[in-house]
Amino acid sequence: MKKVIKNLFNLQGLWVDSIVWEENSVILKVRSPRNSAKCPFCGRSTKFIHQKRERKIKHGIYMGKMVYLLVKIRRFYCKKCKKTFREEIPIIDRKRISKEFRKTAILELKTQSFNEVSKKLNVSSNTLARILKEGLKNYQINWKNLGEEIYLGIDEHSFRGQDLLITITEVKKQKLLAILPDDRQKTLDEFFSKIPEEIKPKIKGCCIDLKVSYKNVIKKHFPKAQIGYRPKLCVNLIAIKFIRAYPPKDKGIK
Ligand SMILES: [Zn+2]
Repeated sequence: MKKVIKNLFNLQGLWVDSIVWEENSVILKVRSPRNSAKCPFCGRSTKFIHQKRERKIKHGIYMGKMVYLLVKIRRFYCKKCKKTFREEIPIIDRKRISKEFRKTAILELKTQSFNEVSKKLNVSSNTLARILKEGLKNYQINWKNLGEEIYLGIDEHSFRGQDLLITITEVKKQKLLAILPDDRQKTLDEFFSKIPEEIKPKIKGCCIDLKVSYKNVIKKHFPKAQIGYRPKLCVNLIAIKFIRAYPPKDKGIK
């Protein structure tokens, strides 16, 4: 039974002590199955517990109910270093929202608006924007999955008429690949420089909108690629949502 619950809620590597089904929520008490922890300062294992506490974090939605984890977190004491440290718990970091929940939020945002997801998951739009921003930061572009012919869309976006940033999309597959923190040519140049050499010849074309002149940077990296001009397009729903939710003073993803 425990195994079923672990799989159902993606709690691999954790011990589930109890599960409580309430009208609008499911609460799972979880903890690390280990009775010792490795000291991050000297690497030795210790069993001395300095302090225990419980933290409630959002974990996702199951059958319309909000799933919470009550995580027991211990601070251990290392006799050698005379220091205390917090134990590492798989799938959980220091945030109030679990990694699983963040994944769910990003998936939901692909098909619904910020407002809808915000209501459904009971988190603010700002939190959602932060989750999305972070998700994109850690997102590695899988160039190999884009096939033998890649067409990049390079679009400038402004929000509230102030800051500009660039989105990079795969035009034919309608996939958002990256959001660059500003609209400078240098930033685009750096982004192109990071594209693996074996991928560059596969980039057959770049679409830019009528206003921008990134032509030189494109020519530098992909001399054979065609350059197409087209009016500004809303190429990807998620990019547009992201840009709308972006706080105006935030300089974007590094
Ligand atoms: Zn130590």
